[in-house]
Amino acid sequence: MNDCIFCKIEKNEIPSERVYEDDGYIAFLDINPISFGHTLVIPRGHHSNIDETPDGVLAGMIALAKKIGLAVVASLGADAYNIHINNGRASGQLVDHVHLHIIPRTLDDGLKAWRGRGSYPEGEMSATAGKIKTELDKNLPR
Ligand code: AMP
Ligand code: ZN
Repeated sequence: MNDCIFCKIEKNEIPSERVYEDDGYIAFLDINPISFGHTLVIPRGHHSNIDETPDGVLAGMIALAKKIGLAVVASLGADAYNIHINNGRASGQLVDHVHLHIIPRTLDDGLKAWRGRGSYPEGEMSATAGKIKTELDKNLPR
């Protein structure tokens, strides 16, 4: 945690190109953008990933992402934006301080976030849903 690069950005120990900050969050440009204006939103407190982050902090992140996404679209002439979170190493998470990506998009940018969709063999779709539902019923009873 002490050598967390985003904590260092939050404390101004290393520079960042900030576009927004308040008591709970900061937003700054990603140093290696997928498109110009690619912005990261982080809570000021250190939480390693979504699973470790209180629900209220996550709710604030997404609410802020909406405002920043709209500003990015309006200011940079984008058509839309992706909101993306990598959660865990296998998902592509490199920095273990929870963060949300806002990626400006244009209709003709050619970016394809999810290539290679598959399909389920017979019976596998309902079996897969059943496994997830069983797990959720343990932890999220209705
Ligand atoms: P992730 O793969 O979701 O963990 O994303 C981490 C992001 O942090 C990457 O897109 C990096 O380009 C970005 N990043 C890493 N170091 C810095 C930095 N010093 N300033 C701005 N962005 C950074
Ligand atoms: Zn941190």
